This record gives sequence, C-alpha cells and structure tokens, in this order.
Amino acid sequence: MTTTQSATALDFTAGARAVRAPRGSQLTCKTWQAEAAMRMLMNNLDPEVAEHPDALVVYGGRGRAARSWAAFDSIVETLKRLDTDETLLVQSGKPVGVVRTHPDSPRVLIANSNIVPHWATQDQFDEYEAKGLMIFGQMTAGSWIYIGTQGILQGTYETFAECGRMDFGCSLKGKLCVTGGCGGMGGAQPLAVTLAEGTCLIADVDLSRLERRRDDRYLDEIVDGLDAAIDRAVDLAARGEAVSVGVHANAVELLERMLERDITPDVLTDQTSAHDPLQGYVPVEYTFEQAAEERVRDAKAYQKLSIESMTRHVRAMVELQKRGAVAFDYGNNIRQRALDNGFDDAFAFPGFVPAYIREQFCVGRGPFRWVALSGDPVDIYKTDKALLDLFPKDAGPYGERLHRWILGCHKNPQALLAGNFEKCEPRFGWQGLPSRICWFGLGERDKAGLKFNEMVASGELSAPIVIGRDHLDCGSVASPNRETEGMLDGSDAISDWALLNAMVNVASGSSWVSLHHGGGVGIGFSQHAGQVIVADGTSDSATRISRVLANDPMMGIFRHADAGYETAALCAKDQDVDIPMQ
Ligand code: NAD
Repeated sequence: MTTTQSATALDFTAGARAVRAPRGSQLTCKTWQAEAAMRMLMNNLDPEVAEHPDALVVYGGRGRAARSWAAFDSIVETLKRLDTDETLLVQSGKPVGVVRTHPDSPRVLIANSNIVPHWATQDQFDEYEAKGLMIFGQMTAGSWIYIGTQGILQGTYETFAECGRMDFGCSLKGKLCVTGGCGGMGGAQPLAVTLAEGTCLIADVDLSRLERRRDDRYLDEIVDGLDAAIDRAVDLAARGEAVSVGVHANAVELLERMLERDITPDVLTDQTSAHDPLQGYVPVEYTFEQAAEERVRDAKAYQKLSIESMTRHVRAMVELQKRGAVAFDYGNNIRQRALDNGFDDAFAFPGFVPAYIREQFCVGRGPFRWVALSGDPVDIYKTDKALLDLFPKDAGPYGERLHRWILGCHKNPQALLAGNFEKCEPRFGWQGLPSRICWFGLGERDKAGLKFNEMVASGELSAPIVIGRDHLDCGSVASPNRETEGMLDGSDAISDWALLNAMVNVASGSSWVSLHHGGGVGIGFSQHAGQVIVADGTSDSATRISRVLANDPMMGIFRHADAGYETAALCAKDQDVDIPMQ
C-alpha cells in the first residue's frame, strides 16, 4: 500500500506560547503524581525540549503532547484539582473524563492515535486529525515523558557501541559512520557515534536542526558544501578522530554523491522522519523551505514525491551496503516505504533491534529515564553517584558499560566520583528539567527506583523524581519493522503483548499509563504502551515502585521466553519469573 492521502498539512508556526514546568518542592496539585504529570506535560512543550512547541509538536514528525492549547489548559486545570482517588482520562491529547478510582491507581490514563485495525491507515488517521478528533502521540510525546535528545542518547550509544563490538570487534575508532536526520531523536546520532569513538557525517535539510544540535554540543561542526563535508569526514576517520560533521543537504544527495565518488562508509543508517511522508520526510527535489510550501499546496503530490525519494534513498543504502558498508535501519520504517513503492530489495539490510538490541530485551533491558522535578541538576548528579555505588563496574555484563556511560555524561567525572556535586558539570546541555537515562534490566530497575525513593524520603534529593521510559522497550511494543522484527516464532505483528503491558502497569500502580498506535514507524505499523512512576519518598510510593519496576520489564521476559529465546528463558529461571507453561 502506498500512502497518498489528501490531508491538510499542520501549521508548525501557529499559536506562539512559551511553556515551562514549575521547579522546586512546592506542590500546586493535590498529589505528587498529578503534579509530576502536569510538570512533565509542560516540560514536553518547553521550547528547550520540543521541536515545534507552538504547534504542540514535541518530536518525531508530528508527535504531539495535547490536542490543542485549550485541551492543554484543561488538562492542567484538571490535574490541579484531581483528588488522591481520581483518575483523568485523556483521549488523543484531550481530557475527556475523570473517574473515581483509588490512591494506588494511575492518576492519568492516556490513549493516543488508536484506530480499529481495518481502518488503521494513514489516510484515515489524517482525516480524523484534520477533523480535530485525534493526534499522533508518537511514543513519548503524547505520553509526557519525552526529555529531549538526551532521552534517546544512551539507546543510540548502545546501538553504535554494539555495532562496533559486533561488526568490527572493537569500538568505532577510525570508522566513518554516515546518517541522515538531525531532529529530536536523530540528533543524538552524532554524539552517540563519537561516544563510541567513531567519526560521524550527518545530513539534514533543515540547517536550524544542525545548528541546534551544535549549540547543545551533540554535533561538533557544520561544514558547508557536500564535497567539503565528505572530504572532512573521510579525513577525520582516517586519522581516527571521534568528531561529528553536519552537512546541510538532503540525505539522498549525500548518499548518491558518495556513490558517484566511490566512497563507502563503514557504517550507514538513517533517522530522517520517513515514518511520515507528509509532515516528516523532505523529498530530494525540495529545499526545506520549498517543502513547507509544497506540502500545504498539494499534499497528495508531496507524498508521492516523498515516497519516490525514500525509494531512491533506500536504493542508495542497499548499493552502499553491497560495496561493503554495514547498513541498518534505525527505526523510521524507510524500508517499508521503498518496498511498497516497488523496490523489492528494500529489506536487504536489517533493522537495528534484531541486529543489536534483541539480546538485551531478552534480559528485560531497556531505557530507564528519570527527571528531577526540583529542576536542580545536583539532584541528577546525586542519583548518578548513587547508581555507580549501587551497581559496581563488575556487577554483571553491563556494569562496565553503565559506568562508562554515566561518567561519559560528565565533563568532570572526578568531581562525581568524589561526591563533589557542586563541581560537577554536564558534558552536553540540559534540555528542560534535568534528566538522565540508562538501560537497566529486570532486577535493576526496581532497585534503582527504590534507591531514588529513599533519597527523596531522606531529603538528600530536593524534590521527587519521575521515572519513566520510552515505549521502545523489551515488552511494551509490537512493531514488526522495528522492535519485533524477525521474532524467532514469527509473532512479529501480535500486539497482545503491548496491551498486556499497559494493563500490567495499570494494575501495578504506575502514576500514568499510555497506550498508543503508530509510534516510531507510522500509522498501521505499531502498537505500544508506556508507563511513568513517581518516587515521592513515601512508603506507598516504594510499594508501587517495587511492583511497577519489576512487572514492567518482566513483560520483556514473558514476551521473549514465549517466542523461544533461550536467554529470556534462562533469565526467567535465574530470577524466579513465574511462567506457567515453561
Ligand atoms: P524529527 O522530525 O524531529 O527529525 C527528523 C529530521 O529529519 C528533521 O530534522 C528533518 O529536517 C530531517 N529530514 C527529513 N527529510 C530529510 C531528508 N530527506 N534528508 C535529510 N534530512 C531530512 O524526528 P526524530 O524525532 O528525530 O525521529 C526521526 C525518525 O526516527 C522518525 O521516523 C522516528 O519515528 C524514528 N525514531 C527512531 C527511534 C529509534 O530509537 N530508533 C526513536 C525515535 C524515533
């Protein structure tokens, strides 16, 4: 199916409004759960965090946090009056009801972008969106736990580091890694590659995105002109220098130029917004500015061109792969677009999950992110140090990686190790409320969460901590071209698991739970769930944390053990996971 709907394009410049979450330990809602949901919704829309905050667009093409500014205001007002035994219901970014529940229930339940499968097409979604009935929630945009580019940084680093280990037997030192898309998530790529010691060359059609990443220290330099940028990157790689180079160009132009010049990158991927042929991807024929006009002038023609361009893009990737590049899809569904458009070889290169991440999913590992509601970076430094102490370097196969990652987030790691928090400095800029991300597995997430809760209770941290995650996780998503690509038992498209995950988190007492469709790869291609839990220092909070942060990753063990992964079955045995039919 080729998507060529006639939807109207979103106006990314509408309704300027500056939102910033309150900081500090003063409650403005009746509970910390509601306060945290409110602050995180606001934080998602903070101009430091969101890509197009004026249009309520947080990241990932048109991933939005609320239906409209009126809906945003109403959510905030409702959260402020929400009682300890009430739950707010949000349907595609609009508050639609409050129900009586109990103190251990989530304070907010969110459903975004869900459409009955037979009608779950981009055309249908666009029609609903144009009528003001739905938003695209992406993964963490509509579930209020997006924390800026830093949120994806560690996962991206894990992927590139694993690529170095598996494909080159070492780090990426001296390797030229080429990619496209320096947006909300894709902007993590240049820093992740250099953290993995490689050289990065990244193309984006929007110069302001490259400049933003350079200002936030995710990108080292921007070089004018395709050839000059290619030459610079090739030279840096030859000298083994871990530097990232941005070039203001269409990714298709960059790859086709590399083919013409017979220059083959060592590693090749892409994070342009290919999941969205209208609002996301820019066809090679247009500049960024022309694209903004053309998608409004003739949405149907725009998408046709967009899909043609994606097909050229994938064709160039496959050709470079044939010439020796290690190529992988980075979760934007670009292969599917090219396949649907008649390029039979589109799936010649694998997705990043089967290539580098699946084994980690089998032990419940996935993204664990936390945010300091105080707004004080010192709270994050203290949690960093607590984790280094809680999980020593030699604790399990990932201990060393955790230490390298946390210390790598600091400009002055010695100050952190010495517990001299006032002297700590971040290696890359904070965006919105200070936050951090780590990958943790079953048995680790609850341990970390309980430690944070103790630190809030003792007053060591100056306000509660919000603990959440991406929907890209071990047991929370069905996405056959991404997280569940090539499952051992062929169960790639079975989404019962994502639904069970949402129900488990509601039953366990998460602070807010979300169930979405279409995130990452686009409408029709995925279903996924998210959860966020607040560590407010109370014993009730500790009880909820110990349930939620054990049960949530346990879904990854159930999912992968059921699909026949031996690592998951072994993990289940080691950690006494109750699987009736194993
Ligand atoms: P975004 O919309 O914030 O950024 C996309 C960027 O791509 C923009 O800067 C845009 O200018 C640029 N772009 C579009 N077409 C281009 C082209 N032809 N050539 C060069 N640049 C082009 O999106 P994002 O949040 O960065 O996400 C990017 C993609 O990655 C999305 O499809 C998203 O669903 C997917 N994604 C993957 C993961 C993952 O973990 N792998 C996570 C989140 C998102």
